[in-house]
Amino acid sequence: MMYMNTQNRCVNIIAHLFNAPLEDSESAVGVGTVGSSEAIMLAGLAFKRKWQNKRRAEGKPIDNPNIVTGANVQVCWEKFARYFEVELKEVKLREGYYVMDPEKAVEMVDENTICVAAILGSTLNGEFEDVKRLNDLLVEKNKETGWDTPIHVDAASGGFIAPFLYPELEWDFRLPLVKSINVSGHKYGLVYAGIGWVIWRNKEDLPEELIFHINYLGADQPTFTLNFSKGSSQVIAQYYQLIRLGFEGYRNVMENCRENMIVLKEGLEKTERFNIVSKDEGVPLVAFSLRDNHRHDEFEISDLLRRFGWIVPAYTMPPDAQHVTVLRVVIREDFSHTLAERLVNDIQKVLHELDTLPSKLSSNVKAADGEDGKPAETRALESKKSDLEKTREITTIWRKFVTARKQKMNVVC
Ligand SMILES: *Cc1c(COP(=O)(O)O)cnc(C)c1O
Repeated sequence: MMYMNTQNRCVNIIAHLFNAPLEDSESAVGVGTVGSSEAIMLAGLAFKRKWQNKRRAEGKPIDNPNIVTGANVQVCWEKFARYFEVELKEVKLREGYYVMDPEKAVEMVDENTICVAAILGSTLNGEFEDVKRLNDLLVEKNKETGWDTPIHVDAASGGFIAPFLYPELEWDFRLPLVKSINVSGHKYGLVYAGIGWVIWRNKEDLPEELIFHINYLGADQPTFTLNFSKGSSQVIAQYYQLIRLGFEGYRNVMENCRENMIVLKEGLEKTERFNIVSKDEGVPLVAFSLRDNHRHDEFEISDLLRRFGWIVPAYTMPPDAQHVTVLRVVIREDFSHTLAERLVNDIQKVLHELDTLPSKLSSNVKAADGEDGKPAETRALESKKSDLEKTREITTIWRKFVTARKQKMNVVC
């Protein structure tokens, strides 16, 4: 019971943070999950079921549900779509615009759309999508068509940023079409990995038939999660953080992250070698590309930075901006001003080193450079070996090892 209580307290705190329209004595509707992925599966299922019920009542077919999102969606939406058989209709990106365009999204909405999913804090560049504009356009479209297509906000990262740094920004339950929101406790919720939350606007937005009531644990326990049992440590840690830090505490942490983001961004701008593709208003991260990546590209910078102990991923943008490559640094709570300056310094060292090297070094050149102390031939051979061959080799060695041990110990394992 302790567990349910703690979980419900967290749900209530987060629902208030997201401006859920609750009466004083009313408790919020939501659940703790393993992360935003599970939260999104549950929210998606609720939308699918609501849409099916409505269509059935109207005597209309229910075999082609779809979700409209930007091509920048996190992979868990593709998982939801494939596992639960919903078509994902993606609004394409374009160079210089890396989030879902609300106009285009609303154009793609049809009678089979179970929801439009907006992202508060795109994984790729941290940018907040314009949920208010989306809401307004969709209200109009719903009026014209008689549909009532709702919105889900994937606030995995931004859900613990926007309420503290941009309280005036309307992206949450203040907008009437926003019916559910997910957030990751293990991102800016400041809890270790394994916790996420999904909150519904009202009881009516979570179809009752998806909730299971069990009584064999001593009291009525409603459950709506993909898994049944789960550890309570993350829920307790989330509750601890919420009450230990409070609104002020979270705001201080987020402000600090934002300040360090600015230090890093300005340091990178000073090199005059990068275009910044993240926004000042968004998740505190810096996403940047080289102004000129003809001689050397972002992947080489990422590779060389590892030598200094930095893991800065480089990746290409989704369609239709796949020709753009970016590097991304997400600012964590424990990142500091000094670390930001050191990172800029190390990036400058890497740039300097690349400038002295011939264009686009191949892995052979790197090996010849003595980076890993192996002769170039060995390195080239290794890279030719397919993953399958490597797996087979490891399996063979493992088998030998286990057989030898079994013989020695004379046990069955
Ligand atoms: C991280 C992230 C997810 C997935 O969240 P998990 O908590 O890792 O399951 C989904 N959407 C967005 C926008 C994210 O940034």
